[in-house]
Amino acid sequence: MLTTHPFQDDKLREECGVFGIWGVESASAIVALGLHALQHRGQEAAGITSWDGRTFHSHRAQGHVAGNFDRDDIIRRLAGDAAIGHVRYSTTGETALRNVQPLFAELSSGGFAVAHNGNISNAMTMRRDLNRRGSIFQSTSDTEVIIHLVATSGQRGLLDRLIDALRQVEGAYSLICLTSEGMIACRDPLGIRPLVMGKLGESIIFASETVALDMVGATYLRSVEPGELIQVSDEGIVSHRPFSPVRPRPCIFEHIYFSRPDSVIDGRSVYTVRKRIGAELAIESPVEADYVVPVPDSGVPAALGYAQQSGIPFELGIIRSHYVGRTFIQPGDKVRHLGVKLKHNANSALIAGRSIVLVDDSIVRGTTSMKIVEMMREAGAREVHMRIASPTTHSCFYGVDTPERSKLLAANMDVAEMTRHIGADSLAFVSIDGLYRALDEAGRNHAMPQHCDACLSGDYPTRLTDQERLDPADQFALLAERFA
Ligand code: SF4
Repeated sequence: MLTTHPFQDDKLREECGVFGIWGVESASAIVALGLHALQHRGQEAAGITSWDGRTFHSHRAQGHVAGNFDRDDIIRRLAGDAAIGHVRYSTTGETALRNVQPLFAELSSGGFAVAHNGNISNAMTMRRDLNRRGSIFQSTSDTEVIIHLVATSGQRGLLDRLIDALRQVEGAYSLICLTSEGMIACRDPLGIRPLVMGKLGESIIFASETVALDMVGATYLRSVEPGELIQVSDEGIVSHRPFSPVRPRPCIFEHIYFSRPDSVIDGRSVYTVRKRIGAELAIESPVEADYVVPVPDSGVPAALGYAQQSGIPFELGIIRSHYVGRTFIQPGDKVRHLGVKLKHNANSALIAGRSIVLVDDSIVRGTTSMKIVEMMREAGAREVHMRIASPTTHSCFYGVDTPERSKLLAANMDVAEMTRHIGADSLAFVSIDGLYRALDEAGRNHAMPQHCDACLSGDYPTRLTDQERLDPADQFALLAERFA
């Protein structure tokens, strides 16, 4: 049976990364490089759409950026000085390709391609309304709802039609749109998903993370502000702010796990924030131990922070193989540990007879934690203390693949039960205030939270119309469609 590696399957998964550039020769080649830097945000499919001044060209495929967009023939076909691209997660299957972005439509005003990071939380409701009004959908992606709203808008210019469409949707969107007249990048009013702007020579770039700017040698200019639309064309750059201002709530999980540690979000180094989360954990939940051991790779910065704050030596007690893909053949029960050890193996010579603090970024279902604690015990660890950089208790409806609440360990057990469940000697999570302190805040402002932290607090910053209105069977169908 083919399955996702258990260490990956037990993580929240960011579903998308976007990249676009206007005004450079061979724009698609630059987009391919940028998408490569964003591969961690979506590893199942990738696509690029370009504009050569007369025609749009598009190539979308399942699989990694490398393997699809490192081919000369494909990049040559994606001709033009402007291009946008997208990486995404999706389940595999025959129907998956139609959901791979950028999505493209010939509107009455001309071609319109869109790459979307996020999720529209009233997409199903809007889709039903549009269906009733005669819209015919090509995909099951919520992004196509935006295209249909643009197509059916009563406004005149494309920008006004896009604004009209975005006024009708709820949820999270960082969009890069490509038209024959220019590129439009925009972020939802709460700025839930990230989007940054950079410059390469005279060309303007938009990307989900600064690491993609680094990859192509571009200079970081600034973040696209929450609620801002930036229009780039041969005439220049124009910023629009068509929405009533609200206090932004960017996703706190970008700092904890999704973004690459070498990215910078709103002036804060992701790596530094993760180390500070580890330091907060050490202050809040100290324990005597011989070594601090990270769960690789995502737990490494927090483990370094824990070690530096506590004075306990940092050691690599788990070694990760970099030569195993995300998918592997699941062995039968008798040899199931071999599957786990393909990617992570205990450094037994270090661990045996020692007391260790294991540090990871999150517990989702708990299957990873259980397997790792078991691996440490088998390697002879005397005590295993688990410290976690986030307690995930609720599902995300803003573009992150989370299991339903009933499958989230921290939503269904208290800490003592979880400790027994994963087989650790002790378990502790950083507090939500500790997370905010790691972000240079005094703590969480409960009256006006500074971030979206809904998967940790249950405090959702937008309405969840589809969840409120649809019966459970429809909600299930919606989820199934989203991941089709
Ligand atoms: S619910 Fe969690 S993962 Fe989703 S946007 Fe909010 S903080 Fe990020």
